[in-house]
Amino acid sequence: MSGANTQYDPVEVSALDPAAIDEVVEAAEAAFAAAGTLDALKDARIAHVGDRSALALANREIGALPPSAKADAGKRVGAARARVGRALAARQAELEAERDARLLVEETVDVTVSGSRRPVGARHPVELTAERIADIFVGLGWEIAEGPELESEWFNFDALNLGPDHPARQMQDTFFVDPPDGGLVLRTHTSPVQVRSLLERELPLYIACPGKVFRTDELDATHTPVFHQVEGLAVDEGLTMAHLRGTLDRFVSELFGEGITTRLRPSYFPFTEPSAELDFRCFVCRGADSSCRTCGGTGWIEWGGCGMVNRNVLTACGVDPDRYTGFAFGMGIERAVMLRNGVADMHDIIEGDVRFSAQFGMEI
Ligand SMILES: [Zn+2]
Repeated sequence: MSGANTQYDPVEVSALDPAAIDEVVEAAEAAFAAAGTLDALKDARIAHVGDRSALALANREIGALPPSAKADAGKRVGAARARVGRALAARQAELEAERDARLLVEETVDVTVSGSRRPVGARHPVELTAERIADIFVGLGWEIAEGPELESEWFNFDALNLGPDHPARQMQDTFFVDPPDGGLVLRTHTSPVQVRSLLERELPLYIACPGKVFRTDELDATHTPVFHQVEGLAVDEGLTMAHLRGTLDRFVSELFGEGITTRLRPSYFPFTEPSAELDFRCFVCRGADSSCRTCGGTGWIEWGGCGMVNRNVLTACGVDPDRYTGFAFGMGIERAVMLRNGVADMHDIIEGDVRFSAQFGMEI
C-alpha cells in the first residue's frame, strides 16, 4: 500500500500542466478566430468552453487536488478560462458587427428602382353610359326608377297591352322561368318598371329606368342575350307628342352632341298609340356625308322606339286616361356605347376585358 499523496505536484498532471493549458487556450483562440459565422462560433464555443471541453475537465480536476495544490492550479485554470472567455466575446462582437453591416447593405431600400405597379381597373363603358343617361334625366328633373330583373308575366306583358295571344308576345324571344306555368320571366324590356312606378307613385310622373334585360338572342357582333335599356315615362295632364319630341331632342343632344335632333317615323308598339321609331341626326357627318360609315350615308341613326302611352296601359295601371296622357320611349345602351365610341363588335362589350374598358377612361 502506498503512503498518503501529500507531495502531489499538479505540474505532472497532464490536464493541469501549464503547457497543456496554454495549448488548450491557443486551440480555443484559433478555433474562435477561424469561425467565419456566428453559427460556426457557437460550435467552437461548445467544443472549447462547453461541459466536455478540456478546460471544463481541468476545472473539475482541481477539486481532486490536495489543498496545497488547489490554489495554484485554480489560478492557472481560472486565468485560462478568462483568456478563452475574452477571445470568445471579442470574436462574437466582431461577427455580430459584420452581420449587422451585411444586413444594412442587404436590406437597403433603393428608392430609384422602379416599382411593380398594379394596373388600375376600369369601369365598364355600359355602366358609365347608363350613369350619364341617368344624370341627363335627373338634370331635367326626372326621377330614376328600378325594378326586378325576374319579373311576373303580368308586369312584363299583360299590363303593357300584350295579351296572352298577342303576336308581340311571341315576337319577343322570352326566357321563361321554371316552372313553365309559374308566370315568371326574365324581363324582356324595362317597361315593367314603368308599370310598377305608375302603380306605386303619385302623378304626375317623370321617370327614367335604366336596366338589364334578357332575350334569347344568340351572341353575335350586334346581339347579346343580356343587354341594357333605358326607358322613359312621363304621365301628366296635357302631355302631347310635342313634349315627347322636345324631351328626346334634349336627351340626344346631351348624349351625342349639342344640336343633334331627332326624327320620328310611324311604327307600332302595343303599349303606345301612336307609336314611332326614333332616329337622331348622325353626330359624325350631321347628314353631310353620303359615305359616312356611322350612319351609312343616310344622315340618321336608328336608336329606339317611342310614343304616347296606350290608354289600355294607363287603365291597367289605375290611371284615368281621360284626364292624364303620357309618353314613353326606350332605347339600347349597348348600341349607344357602340355608336358613340365606334365599337364594331358586341363581343368587346360583353367579354369584360379590362383593356377594353380602360380605353374609356377612369370616370367615377
Ligand atoms: Zn353620318
